[in-house]
Amino acid sequence: MITEVVKANELTKVDPVFGQASFNDHEQIVFCHDKDTGLKAIIGIHNTVLGPALGGTRMWKYANEWEALNDVLRLSRGMTYKSAISGLNLGGGKAVIIGDSKLDKTPELITRFGQFVNSLSGKYITAEDVGTTTPDMDLIRDVTPYVTGISEERGGSGNPSPVTAYGVYMGMKAAAMHQFGSASLDGKRVLVQGTGHVGETLIDYLTKEGALVQISDINQARMEEVGAKYGAKIFMGDDIYSADVDIYAPCALGATVNDETIERLKAKVIAGAANNQLANENIHGKMLQERGILYAPDFLINAGGIINVYAEIAGYDKVEAMKRTENIYNTTLEIFHFAEANGVTTQQAAMSIAQKRIDDRKKEMAK
Ligand code: NAD
Repeated sequence: MITEVVKANELTKVDPVFGQASFNDHEQIVFCHDKDTGLKAIIGIHNTVLGPALGGTRMWKYANEWEALNDVLRLSRGMTYKSAISGLNLGGGKAVIIGDSKLDKTPELITRFGQFVNSLSGKYITAEDVGTTTPDMDLIRDVTPYVTGISEERGGSGNPSPVTAYGVYMGMKAAAMHQFGSASLDGKRVLVQGTGHVGETLIDYLTKEGALVQISDINQARMEEVGAKYGAKIFMGDDIYSADVDIYAPCALGATVNDETIERLKAKVIAGAANNQLANENIHGKMLQERGILYAPDFLINAGGIINVYAEIAGYDKVEAMKRTENIYNTTLEIFHFAEANGVTTQQAAMSIAQKRIDDRKKEMAK
């Protein structure tokens, strides 16, 4: 969930905000505090060229404020590129609330946070993330219209995870097409790491198509339940990264593609839901390219969730959300072709296409 957390003593060597590597040209950063409810939150607004900055609110027990700041900045920048590559008229933003969601979260604290969101007059629109829930979004809705991911009973778009899983499935099929010459996953050996909300639905799609699925999860009970439900095999080896499979689908944590794991990977495709799979975008993207492992950029193929919540702003229904998510197949193929034609990694290709969309809009606006 939280990757690339930089140690506090490394962070304090540079200027606190604008000097952080993760600052990365943010437009605005808002620090929110309320003594009565104990709220300490940071809202990062990375870029609003394409539209309002939309991104979830994460509630996490950060070791210190530096870690929270670094996390929100890194995540909000990621949202800019996710929305841009997905063709959505949204900018990138994210919020973090510092605290343990199980112990420190109260309705008053969430409501107060919603008031801070409201004070930004729509420049930032929030949604759910780790540590926040649909009922929290409903509470926020009571004090501001600038929230998505509210319950279906209140006119919201409901649980985004199945839509995310569908997008990952589409991205994986595109990767199979490019790498193996066929989009069919029938008979392909796929390792799914993480059998949570997204992982489970992905496993359902894969087993239905005839893929030979192996699964892994640190939650033994969950893994056994999902394995039994879909007839997926539990991975029994010591090291999942050296599993003899065609496709590795990270659906648990970020940064699992790193110096140690790339050497051991036998899979020829990486396509999964986890955010920030590459521990270092440039170094590890390049290492994968050199080893002939095709990487489907995470922020592109896991965008089903944001496509789903965007329905609440753009006013489309679930059918349309699924149709737009299906298009991840075409976009992923385009990225692979662009990467090959330009001799860059797939991550760089996706980033530069997303950046171009932002730059073009900026030029149009300046006219
Ligand atoms: P989840 O919390 O429901 O599931 C994650 C699963 O991974 C859990 O079952 C957990 O036990 C397991 N896990 C944790 N550490 C593990 C490890 N080391 N090895 C194996 N399994 C491990 O989360 P989710 O909603 O299914 O999301 C999965 C990933 O996709 C996350 O990284 C999330 O940030 C990302 N993502 C999710 C969505 C969405 O719509 N839910 C959208 C975009 C990205």
